[in-house]
Amino acid sequence: MRSCTVPGMMMFKAPICEYCGSNADFEKWADGEKYGLYVCDAHQSLGERDIRAYWHMQGLTLIEDIIEIYPSLFMVTDIAWRRLDGKLNHGGSIAKSSEAGGAFAINTNGDISLPIVIDGKANVKQILIDDIVNSTEVSQDLLARVKATIAHMMYIADYNAFKAASDEQWAIAQNSTDPDTMERVATVKRQMDLLF
Ligand SMILES: [Zn+2]
Repeated sequence: MRSCTVPGMMMFKAPICEYCGSNADFEKWADGEKYGLYVCDAHQSLGERDIRAYWHMQGLTLIEDIIEIYPSLFMVTDIAWRRLDGKLNHGGSIAKSSEAGGAFAINTNGDISLPIVIDGKANVKQILIDDIVNSTEVSQDLLARVKATIAHMMYIADYNAFKAASDEQWAIAQNSTDPDTMERVATVKRQMDLLF
């Protein structure tokens, strides 16, 4: 048994629950195309927790989780933003994960961007919230609240639970003489170290 894990490349994994080793019932995707993990029915919620913990470590917030708090964002069809050359672009909408294979707000050291569909459905670009201008559909007040929500770290509880499980397993592995336990825990530790 393992009490936590880190998403990895799905193409290299066997379809086996990463917590208990039984046949997997679900694929849980961390990014919609490459990274994820396999879980059985009983360990679905653990898998979802560890994916949110991974998003936290990567500075990612799933756009659907933001829309759940700010549903009006879902309806927006004309986001305007200032480009690097100072000109305005119009006609953006918030990308949904179904269109973009995993659409995220990205927090890079406090610079927060949203995934914006800038050209019909084909082209998704991360636009800094600070570059989005006031409009009837998207007020600066709404943008400030969205930014604060993301900066406040929506998945911190999941991360803390993951971290506690990880520390506990690491402690157990260090006292273990079972090579299988040591190897499994060391793998998670290595993957975690790579994230930082
Ligand atoms: Zn399981």
